[in-house]
Amino acid sequence: MAKRVVFLGMPGAGKGTQAEKYSASEGIAHISTGAMLRAAVDSGSELGKKVAQIMQEGQLVPDELMVDIIEARTQEDDCQSGYILDGFPRTEQQARSLGEMLEKRSESLSSVVLFELSQDEVRRRLEKRRQEENRADDAADTQDERFRVYEAQTKPLIEYYENSGALVRVDASGTVEEVFSGLVKALEN
Ligand code: AMP
Repeated sequence: MAKRVVFLGMPGAGKGTQAEKYSASEGIAHISTGAMLRAAVDSGSELGKKVAQIMQEGQLVPDELMVDIIEARTQEDDCQSGYILDGFPRTEQQARSLGEMLEKRSESLSSVVLFELSQDEVRRRLEKRRQEENRADDAADTQDERFRVYEAQTKPLIEYYENSGALVRVDASGTVEEVFSGLVKALEN
């Protein structure tokens, strides 16, 4: 059966790294909305022009736009055997739209993984990433905004998915390998 998994967690919790590894080991697609949007900005496309400033400020791109992107992307061939949604949904509206989209297709989510990490550790990791990757939205004041946005808009999704019974928690504080083995264990059943 196709595996459709959502990765949830603060910016910097390691979702992207784990998604890359899990995607390779399971042979399912890795859909990072952040990476898709950054590619659009870099290419100078219409979408990129629309979202560049929003991203730079650490704000969220409008829900309808994100839902359209996900509706299209999840219908591509490489998603047939499943996919990881890394960075989507990020608001309750997005989560509801995702649920409706899947229902229309007679599909469902296999699991929602919450990567748990203290804010201090997340900040330490983001500082490291800022030095290594030079990502525009890793700048200190944008980072603060991204945390605020996470707390206000994305954190409520924990309860949302807890209520649906699909949520599994993974300790994200170890090394990449330790976190990955926790992830694999959590998604085994
Ligand atoms: P990320 O790499 O997942 O941290 O995403 C980087 C930025 O892209 C975010 O700070 C948002 O501006 C935008 N973004 C990514 N995914 C979404 C989403 N699902 N909804 C709204 N904005 C998003």
